[in-house]
Amino acid sequence: MLDTFKTMAAMMEERWNQRPRGFDLFNRAMISSMVRAFDDDVKTVFVSGYAFPYELLWAFDVAPFDLEIATNNLPQALNGQGSTFMTPAENQGYSQDICSFHRLIIGCLSEGMLPTADLTITSSYYCQGKAKTWEIVANRQGGECVAFDVPNEVSPASIRYVTEQLKDIAGRLAGITGQRLDMDRLKNAIHWSNRARKSLQELNDLMKLKPCPWDGKRASLLGLGGAILLGSPIRDEIHNMLISEITARVEQGKTFPEDYRVLWYPWAPVQQTNIFDTFKENQVSVVMSEPAYVWWSEMDETDPFEALALKALENPQVGTPAKRISNLEAMVEEYDVDGVVHFSTPACYHETTTYPLTSEALKDKGIPVLDIPGDMTDERKYFPEQTRTRVSAFIEVLHG
Ligand code: SF4
Repeated sequence: MLDTFKTMAAMMEERWNQRPRGFDLFNRAMISSMVRAFDDDVKTVFVSGYAFPYELLWAFDVAPFDLEIATNNLPQALNGQGSTFMTPAENQGYSQDICSFHRLIIGCLSEGMLPTADLTITSSYYCQGKAKTWEIVANRQGGECVAFDVPNEVSPASIRYVTEQLKDIAGRLAGITGQRLDMDRLKNAIHWSNRARKSLQELNDLMKLKPCPWDGKRASLLGLGGAILLGSPIRDEIHNMLISEITARVEQGKTFPEDYRVLWYPWAPVQQTNIFDTFKENQVSVVMSEPAYVWWSEMDETDPFEALALKALENPQVGTPAKRISNLEAMVEEYDVDGVVHFSTPACYHETTTYPLTSEALKDKGIPVLDIPGDMTDERKYFPEQTRTRVSAFIEVLHG
């Protein structure tokens, strides 16, 4: 894995030197942090940027390693052979009913491909399999695993509960790094996260233009993979570069023609599919996606722990589906979409269980919803012909 990431990092460096682009800056920052996680002189923390208020980690000298994002950046996963690394897990009894992301992680662990964590932080939300899978990884590596638990409702008690956990995690980070928590450094991370939030909103506002000048799939990847960059000036820089590039494209009239606009949720498949090409052939733009949306409030820089606790509690994946429904309805309105596309990973139980509620709410507003069953990264569970038929039928509905 390390050699693969080093090769990717070198290729990205070359691309960057030839022509610096905002999305390349994102990929470059993400891959270089994965390479850094293998460095024996650096303290490595397994953490999900999208399921943890990552700004806290910018107060310490640590290298983050998101098991799901990292293993899905392997060329096998990206190019539709993710199962290569899932079979070692399946051979140990991890059933194909388990999310492919988690079989991929356990497969990579079994093959000795992962770096060693000094601390593992897993989360109660987003995913029912994450907590157990990450705990298995930490146990096999003989490391410590902390479960970050975020309750369903926002209340003074829940804010206190989450704040105390974040303080405890800060203490553990101080323990592994030998650094004292520097409150000014933490406040600075909150400051940069707020700056990035503002520039992300500007970037997202450009997606409201017709035709849409960017790509909801890339926006989704940036939202999930780029979560570890919230708290660093790099995330703001990525947004500002993208804003300049997209604005120039609009001014030069270089956008793709657009007949229909769709919203995508929840997350975009990692493996190659024929979905986005079919949309493009039919002039359908994916104009926004759930992970790209600015769902959190500006944080109070003077009270970092409580601000981070609130951010975790505000996450749309925490609490009742009403929160997600109201965000989806807001996106439908703001981005003026003609339809909504849902990508189902059957093993993503909490999400697929919510689907009837979210889709019914949208349909009640007169919005057509397409459900595409598939799998994020297991090519054995993705059927291109069936998908093309479904997508084509949906485009017919949009024509209607
Ligand atoms: S697809 Fe669902 S179950 Fe799988 S890792 Fe993501 S959130 Fe978890």
